[in-house]
Amino acid sequence: GEGLPRPEQTRVIVVANQKGGVGKTTTTVNLAASLALHGARVLVIDLDPQGNASTALGIDHHAEVPSIYDVLVESKPLAEVVQPVPDVEGLFCAPATIDLAGAEIELVSLVARESRLQRAIQAYEQPLDYILIDCPPSLGLLTVNALVAGQEVLIPIQCEYYALEGLGQLLRNVDLVRGHLNPTLHVSTILLTMYDGRTRLASQVAEEVRTHFGDEVLRTSIPRSVRISEAPSYGQTVLTYDPGSSGALSYFEAAREIALRGVGVHYDASQAHIGA
Ligand code: ADP
Ligand code: MG
Repeated sequence: GEGLPRPEQTRVIVVANQKGGVGKTTTTVNLAASLALHGARVLVIDLDPQGNASTALGIDHHAEVPSIYDVLVESKPLAEVVQPVPDVEGLFCAPATIDLAGAEIELVSLVARESRLQRAIQAYEQPLDYILIDCPPSLGLLTVNALVAGQEVLIPIQCEYYALEGLGQLLRNVDLVRGHLNPTLHVSTILLTMYDGRTRLASQVAEEVRTHFGDEVLRTSIPRSVRISEAPSYGQTVLTYDPGSSGALSYFEAAREIALRGVGVHYDASQAHIGA
């Protein structure tokens, strides 16, 4: 990697949007791989029972594998479930297995049910620059655990009709968690995904999102790219599957922008390594 500035403390970034199919998982794994390729140490926590992030990172997550379920429900130390991601140095994953589907219910009766992930992360001793948490498409206890554990929320938005619909509910939940459980939580980043600049709809939605969220929207947006959608079936991120593709370059650039913002360095889009 080219060696971006590393954060002084671990940045815990929650990738959330209760809509399915907007690019949460794709964004989590590809940003994580990009940050690792830039030289950072990065942990992906898969908090979706579907386990798509684990699959995309080539991580074994069949039913018997120690997983984030064991951490949340059985209080197993996070270090005992973390696996290194093959092919990407500095990248790690805490996988999700199908067990996690029951956790939403099982957590209800446990003590400190909203802060179990936070505690597990606080007890994790390996040095990390970033933790990226891939949330399920709902606002239940799993997502609440992520919001309590994180400092930053990253919302991927797909540039289509109704892109902003339902976001109010997520933003209210962020406010509630900030008010009651986690004063440092804030929406730090909006990322436009599956962006097709040739269509009027996409550029109209992008403009609407920029008007609504302002500086939180990354200058870099992610284009619709077949290579991005193919990579998971090879257990790879697009960064290793096709490093020269527009999808890989745009995630790499988005990661650079996130890293620079984190240390307060102005991001100059004219210096982008790709046309934004
Ligand atoms: P979520 O986690 O929000 O449900 P995913 O990341 O799984 O969304 O993305 C939904 C689908 O869209 C997946 O099939 C994924 O491969 C595809 N996809 C995501 N981003 C892109 C992109 N930029 N270009 C093409 N396909 C994409
Ligand atoms: Mg997903």
